[in-house]
Amino acid sequence: MTDCLYLNDSYLRECQARVERVDGKRVFVDKTVFYPQGGGQPSDTGKIVRASDAVEFKVEKVLKESGEAAHYVDREGLAAGDSVRLEIDWARRHKIMRMHTAAHVLGFVMFSRGVLVTGNQLGDALTRFDFNLEAGLHREALEEGVAAANELLRSGAEVKAFELPREEALKIPGVVKLADKLPPAIERLRIVQIGDFDAQADGGTHVRSLSEVGQLRIEKIENKGAANKRVYFSLSNPV
Ligand SMILES: [Zn+2]
Repeated sequence: MTDCLYLNDSYLRECQARVERVDGKRVFVDKTVFYPQGGGQPSDTGKIVRASDAVEFKVEKVLKESGEAAHYVDREGLAAGDSVRLEIDWARRHKIMRMHTAAHVLGFVMFSRGVLVTGNQLGDALTRFDFNLEAGLHREALEEGVAAANELLRSGAEVKAFELPREEALKIPGVVKLADKLPPAIERLRIVQIGDFDAQADGGTHVRSLSEVGQLRIEKIENKGAANKRVYFSLSNPV
């Protein structure tokens, strides 16, 4: 199991680690600051720097494979036992953290209006949401939801992450909002709570405060079948 440091501190940009195993261009380390792709959040990119000679290996993606984070690097050369420094592309990650946090707020607003999120894919420039909507739901209703989400974003509420026993966590109303995506059978769930209005089971990275997020804007709406709408959002910088 890789020790995933971002779970306790999403603001860590780098860490020292030890290479445990290498399989071609897949590198496994004892601990990491890289988020492995999952839960709608893309993996981090960045680099691994070998301590002995400062040679850099570009990390192109990170995937979770049997509980371990597999770091896919651009070339071979690292070996088990190497001391390394892991460094993520922080500008990109921070944008994704803002997007991820905005997605919670929008998900909360839509959920409270009876609209389920059936899927989402976060990005650093655009984030995609699939909403289960009654056919005929109008753009205005979506825009009202976004306006309500933006008002909450301007409140600057605090964002916290903590663990709860599974049974206790699942008592929180709406803790699992993504339709059909219950977390796997684990004993403790990580909960991400925003202000006093939203709590969600979640293993991703978020900002500490809504004041870091900015404002959502609808960029594109597509119809996906009779009851689904796919909506693309961008995020302005916070003022
Ligand atoms: Zn999240």
